Amino acid sequence: MSGSLAEVRLARGDASVDDEHDPEGPTLSSEWSRIAGVTGELENRSHSVDAALGRIDAGRYGVCVRCGEPIGFERLDARPFAELCIRCARLG
Ligand SMILES: [Zn+2]
Repeated sequence: MSGSLAEVRLARGDASVDDEHDPEGPTLSSEWSRIAGVTGELENRSHSVDAALGRIDAGRYGVCVRCGEPIGFERLDARPFAELCIRCARLG
C-alpha cells in the first residue's frame, strides 16, 4: 500500500516536471527566430554600408540619390548611410 502510494507520488512528480518542461519547448524556436532576425538586420546594414562606401568611391556620398541635393550634415550625422535627403525621404 505504502509502496504503491510512493509510486503514485513518483509518477506525479515526473508528470509535474514534464508540465514545467513542455512550456519551455517553444523558446528554442523563438530564440532561433530572434537570432535569424538579428542576422537579417545585420545583413541589411552591411548592404547599406557597402552602398555608402560605393558612393564615397564615386564621390557621391552625402548627395541625395534621387534629386542630387546635399543630404545635410545633421541627417548624415543621425543616419550616416542615408541615401535620400530629408525632403525626398519625406516624400517616400
Ligand atoms: Zn533628395
